[in-house]
Amino acid sequence: MAAPDSPSTPRFNPSDVPDGTRKGFSLHVARLADGSVLRVAVNVVAGSGHHPCLALIAGIHGDEYDGILALAELWEELDPKDIAGRVVMVPCANPTAFAAGARKSPLDGLDLNRTFPGKPRGQPSEQLAYCLFHDVLKQADFVFSMHGWTAYGDVVPYVEFKHDNPATARASFDAAAASGFEIIRIGSWSPGVMTREASVAGIPGMESEVGGMGMSSSENRERYKGYVRRLMAHLGMVKKTTDARPAAAPRVVEHMDIFSPVGGVVRLRVRVGEDVTRGTVLATVHNFHGEARHEIIAPDSGMIAMTRVAGSAQPGDMMFRIFRDVKNPVAQ
Ligand SMILES: [Zn+2]
Repeated sequence: MAAPDSPSTPRFNPSDVPDGTRKGFSLHVARLADGSVLRVAVNVVAGSGHHPCLALIAGIHGDEYDGILALAELWEELDPKDIAGRVVMVPCANPTAFAAGARKSPLDGLDLNRTFPGKPRGQPSEQLAYCLFHDVLKQADFVFSMHGWTAYGDVVPYVEFKHDNPATARASFDAAAASGFEIIRIGSWSPGVMTREASVAGIPGMESEVGGMGMSSSENRERYKGYVRRLMAHLGMVKKTTDARPAAAPRVVEHMDIFSPVGGVVRLRVRVGEDVTRGTVLATVHNFHGEARHEIIAPDSGMIAMTRVAGSAQPGDMMFRIFRDVKNPVAQ
């Protein structure tokens, strides 16, 4: 009888990394059809003491590059001798989606960020979520999920958190504000979103959107590293940071998404970050004869938070996200 498949790496524990050192792990997730092993890389920067333990997760969607590259740079830049606690970085949480240059893994077509806390005997993405949730997140005191918009869109930098869980809302909001985000979005999250399920398990956290369009910029990587360094200062992991916070308090917003009912060639009329009023023409959708098939109109006033940048649209494609200011639900 063949021996059962077993992880070829020891069970991950950031506390096993000696204080003042760094160590990279390659966690065994699942044995695939061709006999190869799905693995995920985890990098630990071990400062003094085991806590706070901060988990930084990027690449849950494989085509969101600023977070992935910011964690690659932080792995080179963070000195364990300057840190209290542990920084646990997963620079690319969804390696097969990354390899395909796609949002989802081609192995099963599942959205990893709708799959947490995962299944130990499920499909590859479900086993990956289970590994990340049980081996990494459950050992963390705070979780920062670093996203960007998928390749077809551009977005203003913002962060969101689970505001309707009293056990984690205050710690999550305070960390988001201290990290220097100028826009904090509230709203419900679908079951299976990593930071939502972490919150349900009692772990505070936040999920951000920075950059998009299937690319990375030095500006956005610096922005992301600034958020992380200020978060570490807020959690008491570094004595000080040179990355100053914005002077103004963050805007708290809710969102409204706008879709195209027709397909065609897209002509944008607005830019990301622009304020619009109700009735503004946001885009026109044409056919190949130059005839406008549809005008996309702002249904309400607000700020353009996201635009589709692809030149084509299919019926039902998301075209815009608009933010509107709301009362802070966790204000004192
Ligand atoms: Zn994402």
